Amino acid sequence: QFPFGRRLPCDIYWHGVSFHDNDIFSGQVNKFPGMTEMVRKITLSRAVRTMQDLFPLEYNFYPRSWILPEEFPVFVAEVHMMKDSDPSWKPTFIVKPDGGCQGDGIYLIKDPSDIRLTGSIQSRPAVVQEYICKPLLVDKLKFDIRLYVLLKSLEPLEIYIAKDGLSRFCTEPYQEPTLKNLHQVFMHLTNYSLNIHSGNFIHSDNVNTGSKRTFSSILCRLSSRGADVKKLWSDIISLVIKTIIALTPELKVYYQSDIPAGKPGPTCFQILGFDILLMKNLKPMLLEVNANPSMRIEHEQELSPGVFENVPSPVDEEVKVAVIRDTLRLVDPQKKKR
Ligand code: ADP
Repeated sequence: QFPFGRRLPCDIYWHGVSFHDNDIFSGQVNKFPGMTEMVRKITLSRAVRTMQDLFPLEYNFYPRSWILPEEFPVFVAEVHMMKDSDPSWKPTFIVKPDGGCQGDGIYLIKDPSDIRLTGSIQSRPAVVQEYICKPLLVDKLKFDIRLYVLLKSLEPLEIYIAKDGLSRFCTEPYQEPTLKNLHQVFMHLTNYSLNIHSGNFIHSDNVNTGSKRTFSSILCRLSSRGADVKKLWSDIISLVIKTIIALTPELKVYYQSDIPAGKPGPTCFQILGFDILLMKNLKPMLLEVNANPSMRIEHEQELSPGVFENVPSPVDEEVKVAVIRDTLRLVDPQKKKR
């Protein structure tokens, strides 16, 4: 750690938030220039939508999305048209402010006219998305998957996916959205940061129970019920590769502008957090990509009112230590020399 600035060049630079540092002329940095910008909700939606227009079948792993406020009229018109052509279609939509995280500002609506266009959306752009109403449930609860992906190089494209990830559970039994339950965040949103405040949150002391479990423990359960886990993995791998391909053109522009070819500069790698929802039929859907996924292996526990202590979280430790260890092994400069 260099809290007061660094004097000597390093083999590997591990930055907390983003790439920015003009003084690195060699070695490897753990962030790509422009990645934070590229995975914001609006930019990610635009990039994936461009590919959906070109290859609709290949990119059907991302919910139909519109960007607000600019596409509000298109959103209203398209929903109208789809409802006219299929009167039995009773959709729900999820509105997510751009640049938000941890479920901040997210809400569900049944009709485009329910959007709070006054004030907040005008000043805070958002993505509105078709809500996936039939997610896969385990123990009657909705959950999502956080997978860790190492983008080791842009050119040539080198991607590694960690074999285990996290499954983050809701804390209220799931019901398909109705006007009555739309506001129940503990039923519809899987964010740890929200569900931790529910009285039902269970800190896991092993990897296959509680509100945060390993993804491998879910796969074991699915496999014992006869699910085709191999196919699921291959669909997930394909989703990850296609998403990164959608981001690549603009990432290369950022890269060349910050690290021009022919000038001394570092190379980059980055651990990304992919948030994926499994539908009832086991199809994985991309929710979002996180450029700065939390690598914490502890959680806060309230010992007595207002008194908190950090305690180890075995599930986070099991998954994240392996991610960091394998990343360092893959980018190890000594390995190249050997
Ligand atoms: P944030 O960055 O605030 O966590 P996300 O896009 O991950 O925003 O959404 C928060 C949560 O909302 C997700 O973890 C998931 O549980 C739920 N969610 C998001 N998009 C959808 C969707 N299209 N269909 C169903 N659930 C969704």
